[in-house]
Amino acid sequence: MPEHLSTTAWAPDSWKSKPIKQDVVYDDPKELEEVVSRVANLPPLVSQPEIDRLRAQLRDVAEGRAFLLQGGDCAESFDYCEPTKIEDKLKILLQMSLVLVWGMRLPIVRIARMAGQYAKPRSSAYETVNGEQILSYRGDNVNGIDPGQRRPDPQRLLSAYFHSASTINYVRLLLDSGFADIHQPEAWDLGYVRKEEIRHEYQTIVNRLTDALGFMGVIGATGSGQTSALSTVDLYTSHEALLLEYEQALTRAVAKPSERGGRRQPYEPSTPPRKPLAPELCDWYNMSAHFIWIGDRTRQLDGAHIEYFRGVKNPVGVKVGPSMEPAELVRVLGILDPLLEPGRVTLITRYGAGKIADNLPAHIKAVQATAHRPVWCCDPCHGNTTTAPTGHKTRSFDAIISEITSSISIHRELGSRLSGVHLELTGEHVTECTGGSQELSHSDLPSNYQTFCDPRLNYEQSLDIAFKIAKVYQD
Ligand code: PEP
Ligand code: MN
Repeated sequence: MPEHLSTTAWAPDSWKSKPIKQDVVYDDPKELEEVVSRVANLPPLVSQPEIDRLRAQLRDVAEGRAFLLQGGDCAESFDYCEPTKIEDKLKILLQMSLVLVWGMRLPIVRIARMAGQYAKPRSSAYETVNGEQILSYRGDNVNGIDPGQRRPDPQRLLSAYFHSASTINYVRLLLDSGFADIHQPEAWDLGYVRKEEIRHEYQTIVNRLTDALGFMGVIGATGSGQTSALSTVDLYTSHEALLLEYEQALTRAVAKPSERGGRRQPYEPSTPPRKPLAPELCDWYNMSAHFIWIGDRTRQLDGAHIEYFRGVKNPVGVKVGPSMEPAELVRVLGILDPLLEPGRVTLITRYGAGKIADNLPAHIKAVQATAHRPVWCCDPCHGNTTTAPTGHKTRSFDAIISEITSSISIHRELGSRLSGVHLELTGEHVTECTGGSQELSHSDLPSNYQTFCDPRLNYEQSLDIAFKIAKVYQD
């Protein structure tokens, strides 16, 4: 019997009957319950039609008609909810996607690790700070980075909701007011980029695109529909859905299409439904973000996270590291994608540049032997984290590029296709990763090292990556 049919009925809280990893223990479970029921009564942050649009776009990605760019902070802090930081993040994602569109001649689906990427899994529950053992920082929605704020505080979940809402509101506002408009080059200038070669290459792309648009204008090819498509873009939000109490509180029922004459309405007015729907008549959507993923530490087949994920309609990601057995991967897909929907699952592989050749081929072959058609996405960051002599956690640009290019060629050799990248990056001029066209070295790291968690590619390194990927696909 297929695995999904042998399991018990799903409900937004059925994960509670399964063993859970990375659980947060609060001093006052009653306070947690009160906060969670408050969140459950707050409006959704994203809508069902938006989530369905992303599902359709990820189907295109899985079938080779589009490419996925997912990126953002390792750990988003509440303090990042501020106009310039949001603008900078949006800008680098848009600029990278412009380079990728140009190089690959394919539409780019953009998903930001943003507006909710607050919870962090940790390899150890404790850490030593100034010789003292304290609880590890678990992300702003659990505790504070300040050593005096490590007690898990349920009120932070409410704060996470409002910071997510404010961030997503500003993103919508920016996109709505022409921030992504290719006709307005101010938003597209190169900020910090000092290297002449990159400025030149990027400027050539923008000029060619603006020329093409101007030409279309002259010949009257830009009807209002087309103009608006070039003036704004889709940008989706995502986070690791680690804190299941919070995710459950934002899981909302929507009547199945068959209950609405087979048509999705452009806007789904009552979530949660005013009249409770019978469970068999509704679909469940996680309305905290468009896309959610399961981390490498919480993807146990019989665990709480897989149980929660299998029941929501959102497209979902699964991190796949060297410890994943090929047969286990097939079982994960069996549980999360019982209807064999192309693009329902994005496999975000993260082995490390030195380990990818030993792991990826068996994973690709195992999936090819099934009828599942996931999106294959490369996270070249998490398998390539090292510690610099200065003690800073870092990643080398060359190792990141090496894992991406190996991934592209291994997929090609096996008749598969790498269809996306997942990057930890920021639009700011930080010094957390080494290498790239600025040639940052270990000794440069202390000059502007800001991350609370993993090291991020800075603005220029991110643009470098986009050019490199575009070139590999052009060859
Ligand atoms: C992350 O994406 O920040 C992360 C913790 O990744 P992984 O689960 O792959 O280790
Ligand atoms: Mn990370």
